Amino acid sequence: MIVIMERGANPEQVNHVVARIQELGLATHLSSGEERTIIGVVGSPLPVTLDQELEIHAGVERVVRVTKKYKLTGWDFHPRKTEIRVRDVVIGGDEVTIIAGPCSVESAEQTISTAHAVKAAGATLLRGGAYKPRTSPYEFRGLGRRGLEILAQAREETGLAIITEVMTPADIDEVGAFTDIFQIGARNSQNYLLLEEVGKAGKPVMLKRGLSMMIEEWLLAAEYVMAQGNPDVILCERGVRTFEQATRNTLDVSSVPVVRGMSHLPVFVDPSHAAGKRALVPALAFAGVAAGADGLMIEVHPNPDQARSDGAQSLTFDQFAELTPKIAAIARAVGRTLSMPGSLAAIAG
Ligand code: PEP
Ligand code: MN
Repeated sequence: MIVIMERGANPEQVNHVVARIQELGLATHLSSGEERTIIGVVGSPLPVTLDQELEIHAGVERVVRVTKKYKLTGWDFHPRKTEIRVRDVVIGGDEVTIIAGPCSVESAEQTISTAHAVKAAGATLLRGGAYKPRTSPYEFRGLGRRGLEILAQAREETGLAIITEVMTPADIDEVGAFTDIFQIGARNSQNYLLLEEVGKAGKPVMLKRGLSMMIEEWLLAAEYVMAQGNPDVILCERGVRTFEQATRNTLDVSSVPVVRGMSHLPVFVDPSHAAGKRALVPALAFAGVAAGADGLMIEVHPNPDQARSDGAQSLTFDQFAELTPKIAAIARAVGRTLSMPGSLAAIAG
């Protein structure tokens, strides 16, 4: 249910409505726009006559029942696009943001050299896994805490914000002490206890789409994070499993405009995990931006042939540097600009 306050309703009137809803044991989520405030009501059971009761409160314009299963992630509760500030980058605004870096943090040398290279080419966030979910338990599963320390060192040297995966509630405090954004991987995208715990951790969360997740399920997974009071969720399409084996996953490009129609949350595309092969990454990256993605997440490695994970889909520094001006051109064609690190923006401007 949403309570739409009148234009010019005062804070006292808003507080009065909120207090009444909370008295009934229901949760409220406030969206204060320039024009008016919307109070989202979630919880159950919603008393049958609650809409009629709230409609007569001072300052209330109307009350609407929202029948969709996803609520906080939908446009009804939050009629403006969500913009998330991470250090000096705004995600979900007019600019397209590029997150780049290795699949796994392997060494300080490997990660810091990548951070410098991707920054010089236009990335504004650095990615790198310290705790890696691997299909086989015998594969490299990340450097753990040492990996987090290396990411923090890369941030210090380059100023790039960092994003890294958290796999279990037990690691949230440790990962949260280092990272700017928590990544929830495709394999954990419906791990509801993890989603709730990360929702309490006070930092933005990027939620990858699960391998066979329907879009509504994806939004409901994001709802778990938001229901804990964290409004800063980024969705990331990374390909889904289909019968096709020529690619690692099938990039569902259509999910970008579909999600945009359903949700105010920023949507990213990860062409690397969709493609599985570096030669396909540019085409999928272009398609994502053309479809309206707010950003891309791309794997880059100093020497992909020797990468400890996902080398086949990782770009070299040169390949990444060749790609970003083309992404900028696609962004311009769809009315966006590419977010640039401070120094490059000054040169470009
Ligand atoms: C990754 O980003 O390295 C990763 C493991 O991605 P996904 O969870 O989408 O497979
Ligand atoms: Mn990877």
